[in-house]
Amino acid sequence: MDTRVCNSCNGSGKNQYINKDSSCNSCGGSGSYPEINREDVLNLIISTGGDKSLKKSYSSNGCYGNPLKARAYFVWRLARFHGGLDTSMPSTAYLWSGKDPYKKELEEFADDVAKTYLGTSSAAVIKWGHVMGMIRG
Ligand SMILES: [Zn+2]
Repeated sequence: MDTRVCNSCNGSGKNQYINKDSSCNSCGGSGSYPEINREDVLNLIISTGGDKSLKKSYSSNGCYGNPLKARAYFVWRLARFHGGLDTSMPSTAYLWSGKDPYKKELEEFADDVAKTYLGTSSAAVIKWGHVMGMIRG
């Protein structure tokens, strides 16, 4: 399986901010990230009862040092943003996954999730386009 070096600790596995002897708050101490397992992420954010849909709520608790949980929160939150369900910027999601070396792939994944489960990925873009005066009408 493909892995990439953690962008927070650069592979040391050590926390770069508070207690330097504790494990990295992004990768959890392994120093690297595994490639994204979409199925594992979807299992956390798609409700299984009845029709499969994006969960209405998903807590960011537990993202500390837990790449899978942080990725699930990131994809859930960005998909909602792309789908127009959340119009505020997903800054907390970037707080937990901002150092993920697969961040670009995570953003693409979130876009796919928005298209698949919310039917759109352009609502937030259109809304912000209006706000910023880039789209008229
Ligand atoms: Zn790390």
